[in-house]
Amino acid sequence: MKSQRHSLDKSIRYPRVVFIVGTGRSGSTVLDLFLGQHPTIQSAGELCNVVKSGWVGGEFCSCGERVPLCRFWTEVRKIWEELTGAKPEDYESLRSLVEGNRRTLWKMLRNDRPEMLLLSGKEPGEFLAYAQWTAALYRAIAEVSGKTLLIDSSKNPARALALVLMDHRLDLIDLYLIHLVRDIRGFVWSQRKSFQRDERAGVAHDLSPRPVWKSALVWLFVNSISERVIARHDLERTLFLRYEDFANDTLQTSLKLASFLNIAAQPWLEMMTSHKPLQAGHVVAGNRVRMQRHINIKPDNDWQTHLTTFQKVLCWFLAGWKARQYGYTWEPVAARTTTTGGHTLAGPHYVHSPRTTLDTVATPSENQYGLHKP
Ligand SMILES: [Zn+2]
Repeated sequence: MKSQRHSLDKSIRYPRVVFIVGTGRSGSTVLDLFLGQHPTIQSAGELCNVVKSGWVGGEFCSCGERVPLCRFWTEVRKIWEELTGAKPEDYESLRSLVEGNRRTLWKMLRNDRPEMLLLSGKEPGEFLAYAQWTAALYRAIAEVSGKTLLIDSSKNPARALALVLMDHRLDLIDLYLIHLVRDIRGFVWSQRKSFQRDERAGVAHDLSPRPVWKSALVWLFVNSISERVIARHDLERTLFLRYEDFANDTLQTSLKLASFLNIAAQPWLEMMTSHKPLQAGHVVAGNRVRMQRHINIKPDNDWQTHLTTFQKVLCWFLAGWKARQYGYTWEPVAARTTTTGGHTLAGPHYVHSPRTTLDTVATPSENQYGLHKP
């Protein structure tokens, strides 16, 4: 594998990136891994955290090694540094200004001229540096993996919007957006769980239960912003997907994904026919499921028995109107979905409607994931 800039062929210089946008705990890691079973696709996890958690923080890769010892990410870092001449710490500073600052998100929503975006207020070229270094990360992954499609399941709408600018205004990447949505009650139930820090198991920090009302408002806010981001991108390169549809009818979902990405569905169909579990490769950040040896897709039903009636009513009172736009009803999706397709369900009312509908996929250890797209 060559690491000189001039050696990069066209598919690497102009990487095709599939970005999953939406809330956390929506099944994005499982969808990411499912997509990555295709021979032309590299599953990369939450790339927004690779530099901070992996290169700088030294957290575990799903291959079982800490990132600084993982051959895949070591090679990616080497190529990235050759391409950019930058330090990971400097990139991380710019990345947090773009993706971790709500004011930058509003600026990007109001102004689509990235060359005019001021991040720290000191230098007007900061966004351009962020964009070029981010594109270099995708290029390095494409070169090391040899794959033509990369999955980034970071989900952060601010990163998604920055990528839209990188595609439309800077011509650095070829971007595909998947808006992944999980039933609000499944999301809220997932947020009610607590986890203790266990790096080897993929839990980087202690996680405390979140109040139902807070989770419901987060679900509403993040999905609403995700819709605004999606509306900024080309219709034919956006897709709405409900996790429940993916998990309940993975076959139809895989056909839609193949059509969306213009690739053959056969490798996914063969994998499903053989009942092989998903393999996690080299995923640094994301749901702890990535650290499991064998991963299966399973429906998201736990919330139905674990949430109280009051908690379900509170969810529906706060955000039921938005859930209905995504095709959810008071009755769980699983009870209504047929095995012949997820497009029986309505999608969100984007400024432009996504053209396809996908369903969701869940993990073996936790049924907390749900997706769908119109
Ligand atoms: Zn690894």
